[in-house]
Formats: sequence, C-alpha cells, structure tokens
Amino acid sequence: MYTTPQTGTRPGLDQAAIRATVRDFVEREIPPDRARAIDQNDEYPSDLLDKFGQTGLWGINIAEEYGGLGGCPVDALPIYEELSRRLPVLAWVIGNILLYGNDIIGKSGSPEQKEYYLPRLAQGELRFSFALTEPNAGSDAAKISTKATFREGHYLITGSKMFITGAGVSDVVVTMTRTAPSKYRGITAFLVPTATPGYSTSHLKKLGYQGSDTCAVHYEDVQVTPSHILGGESCLNQGWGQMVKLLNSERLALASCSLGIGQAVLDETIAYAKERFHLAQGRWQHQAIRHALVDMATELEAARHLTYHAARLEGAGIECVRETSMAKYFASETAKKIALQGVEILGRDGATLAFDCQRALRDVLVLSIGGGTTQIQKNIVARQMGL
Ligand SMILES: Cc1cc2nc3c(=O)[nH]c(=O)nc-3n(C[C@H](O)[C@H](O)[C@H](O)COP(=O)(O)OP(=O)(O)OC[C@H]3O[C@@H](n4cnc5c(N)ncnc54)[C@H](O)[C@@H]3O)c2cc1C
Repeated sequence: MYTTPQTGTRPGLDQAAIRATVRDFVEREIPPDRARAIDQNDEYPSDLLDKFGQTGLWGINIAEEYGGLGGCPVDALPIYEELSRRLPVLAWVIGNILLYGNDIIGKSGSPEQKEYYLPRLAQGELRFSFALTEPNAGSDAAKISTKATFREGHYLITGSKMFITGAGVSDVVVTMTRTAPSKYRGITAFLVPTATPGYSTSHLKKLGYQGSDTCAVHYEDVQVTPSHILGGESCLNQGWGQMVKLLNSERLALASCSLGIGQAVLDETIAYAKERFHLAQGRWQHQAIRHALVDMATELEAARHLTYHAARLEGAGIECVRETSMAKYFASETAKKIALQGVEILGRDGATLAFDCQRALRDVLVLSIGGGTTQIQKNIVARQMGL
C-alpha cells in the first residue's frame, strides 16, 4: 500500500494521516454495495457529503484564519485517490467543491467573499459548482456566449451551460460569462446563488460518474449585483485569469482520481485472477494473464510517479504546467487501459454488475474528457516543448 509523499507547501499537514483518515471513512461509511447502488440509481450522494464532515477535511485547502486546515490544493490529492478506490463519484463531487468553492474563493475572492464563504465551506455547509462549458464552447472554452449585461445597477445573466457537475444541488454556481467582446479579456466570473429567479437546470443522463448530477443550466435574466463578481467589482473581465490559476490543481485532482480507479481495478482483477486461474500447485494457468497484471501494475506505478512528481513541483510553487498536463493525460489514459484490461481478464464476469471493473471503465472514460481532454493536454505539453 502506498504512502503519499509530502507534497504540500506546509510541512504541518501529514499526507499519510490524511490518507488514513479517508480510508477509515470509506471503510466505515461506503460498503461496496452502497457504492454500486449509487451508480445504478444515478443517486447524488448527499448523505455521504454530509458525513464527510466527520473527517474534518472540508477545510483542507482553506486558510486557518477562515477555519480551515491551512493546506494547499495538493494536500487534497490523497482524498481524491482514496475515495476513487471505492466510489469515484464521491471524489468528483467533493473535488468540485474543494476546487470551485474553497480554492477559487481563496485565490480570487474579495475580502468580503472570503469572510462570508470560506468559514461555511470549511464546515461543509455550502455546495459549489463551476459553469464554464456551453453547447458551443467545450475545449475552446473562451468561446462562451452566456452574457452578463449591466443594466440599472445590476447584471442580467442570459444563456445556457452544459455538463455542469452538481448544478441542480449546489448553493452557488461560479458562472463564467461574456461581458466584453475580447475573447479572453472579456470574461467575468459571477458567484450566482442558485435560488435566484431565472436559474434552472435539467438533469443529463450519461455513461459514467453516475450520481454527479450533471446538468444543463439555463439562465433567463438572472439578476445579480456587481458584488457577485468573483473578486468584487474591480474584477470585471478577469474571469479567465482567475480560472487559469486553478488549472494545475484541477489536473492533479483528476490524475489522482485516475490513480484511485486504476488501483481499484488492479486490486479487483488480481483477487479474481488468483481465485480463478491460480492452480493449487502454485502455477498460473495463463501466463498471459500474469503478464497483463504485471503490465497494469507497472503502468499504474509510472502514472503514480509522474503525478506525485508534478504534485511536488506544484506544492513547492515551481512552474509545472507541462508536468501537470502530462500527469493528467497519462494517468487518465493509463487508468482507461487498466480498466479495459480488467474487464477483459474478468471475462464473462467483467460484463456483470456484480464486479466493479465495468463501472471503473465507464468512469475513466469521463476522466479523459473533463478538465481538458487528453488531446488538449497534449496541445499544452507541445506548446511547453516549443512545438
Ligand atoms: C461528466 C462530465 C462532467 C463535467 N463537468 C463540468 C463542469 O462541472 N463544469 C464545466 O464547465 N464543464 C464540465 N464538463 C465539460 C468538460 O469540461 C468538457 O466536456 C471538456 O472540456 C471537453 O469539451 P467538449 O466535450 O465540448 O469536447 P469538444 O471540445 O467538442 O471536443 C471533441 C473532441 O475533439 C477534440 N479536440 C477539440 N479541440 C481540439 C484541439 N484543438 N486539438 C486536438 N483535439 C481537439 C477533443 O479532445 C475531443 O476528443 C463536464 C464533462 C463531463 C463529461
């Protein structure tokens, strides 16, 4: 079993202890049958989010002065990895709040916004979503056209967003809007309370990450004030830069989710193969399966080292766009390959819902899309290489 390296900026946060705390939480609160039921019923795991408060980790990346633990986003990586080993969707929805609530407000919020939101987030009292993607703006995200128009002291937001995680259950949706024609310098982030009239959602059915409440979001003259701009009125048109500050953390979070899923598949496949193919005399019936398991373990180990290396750089404040992009695409593609091999090794059982490899395969397909697809990460790495 792995112990995470100290990757955070503060030596005070013990990553091994964080990992052990989350592992205990998983064993206590999420039996395998519950994880399967959440997937099969596409159930948002609201009660588990509430119970996650028992770990005291909601404030992991919130400054102590606001009631948090004072860590950085990298300190949260063992949380994603451990939760993903049992219930990837819980890592996804918790990560959504840690990144687009805690981290975005901590990095870009105004003093008043920090004062109001961070203590509540540290207690797990608020749920946040992040709405960037639109029907016509995915990988080229700065093409967004959802508009915020200033009129008589207010902004009116009109337009729609697609594939927004948790948008139907969140209290606040950080909404990226077009406020000026300039592609990158004409984007403003608003903290939109979901109770505001004109805000509505429709649930989207999808392949993996069942239970993450992925939604289309509709804004019909949603009225907010300039004080709802992330960072306050002076941050009009600064939304793109505010978002870019989160990208390394986001890529590392998704790489960590991939590691957790890959490990879960490897564990399940080894246990299965030992029982089914391992002969009593200690000789393996199928050499090919033995080698496949070694390949899976080796590739996962490589993904882990790449991710932890990038995390160490990020934790130490060293420029690492190249490394986090490499880690995100390599870890998610590796987990995808491992999940496919797992399903194949399980044979007929791999096709049943009684084993979790099929769920892992459906979930990893999403991991190489969300947070910038594999192709987009490769474009970023190519640019970093001067290509
Ligand atoms: C389950 C799920 C949850 C999500 N949650 C959120 C959320 O909470 N908030 C949010 O804002 N968004 C969310 N998204 C959206 C996600 O960020 C986008 O799906 C992602 O950015 C890709 O955009 P797209 O799906 O429009 O793909 P497209 O941009 O249409 O890409 C289609 C294909 O073309 C490739 N491609 C596109 N451009 C290039 C290029 N320049 N070079 C090479 N290849 C390229 C892509 O790699 C991909 O293979 C979520 C998506 C999913 C599936």
